Amino acid sequence: MFRKFLALCLIGCLLCGSALASERPSYITQYTNGSREEKRIAVTIDDWYEPEMLPDFLDVANEFGCKLTLYPIGINVRPKEGPAWQRAIDEGHEIGNHSNTHKNLEKAGRDTILAQLNNMEKRLEEALGHPHIMNTVRYPFGAGRFNGTRGAFAKAVFDAGYSHVALWDIDSTDAREILKKVENGSIILLHGRKKDLRTLKAILPELQSRGYEMVTISDLLHIRPEENKDM
Ligand SMILES: [Zn+2]
Repeated sequence: MFRKFLALCLIGCLLCGSALASERPSYITQYTNGSREEKRIAVTIDDWYEPEMLPDFLDVANEFGCKLTLYPIGINVRPKEGPAWQRAIDEGHEIGNHSNTHKNLEKAGRDTILAQLNNMEKRLEEALGHPHIMNTVRYPFGAGRFNGTRGAFAKAVFDAGYSHVALWDIDSTDAREILKKVENGSIILLHGRKKDLRTLKAILPELQSRGYEMVTISDLLHIRPEENKDM
């Protein structure tokens, strides 16, 4: 009886093994939200076509104990605002990669994907005066979210140095709508411009009073930097 059991186990292992071997690896993990069990959310601010607004965003976030995640495109990260980007990092906010020129990557070739992500890193490095590791990519327009995590597209993102793609579950500049939709694990998408600073000012006091911990995307998704890059 025991031998029969062992034989069945062996067959089971062989079947599992061959199934795993035939499945291609997942290069990247894609998220639209964090855990729905934890009373934590992330507020993310994209694009930064008005980069001069950054210190105001940081002031408001700090006032309400919110750690922001900033997804500027590379061409909007100017040496002029270098000290503000450094201030964001020093104060515990996070910066992620949103491509260099807000190019739709969905149908882009491998070389374009690599260039878009790596050129954004170069712009940030120029502004800061030193290299800065980013843990996550956010696709411009969210385009590429349906390309999967195992194919050539995902491999290009991975080869550019990223294994985590952070999207969102709330995309609105209407404070009432955001406050209606927000739940545990939500990732809120706003943009770095004056209009959205007003939205941020309107939502943060309420989110704080509801008891949400407002953390960076890496904190929300439990991403540790060493999982991401070969250091
Ligand atoms: Zn964008």
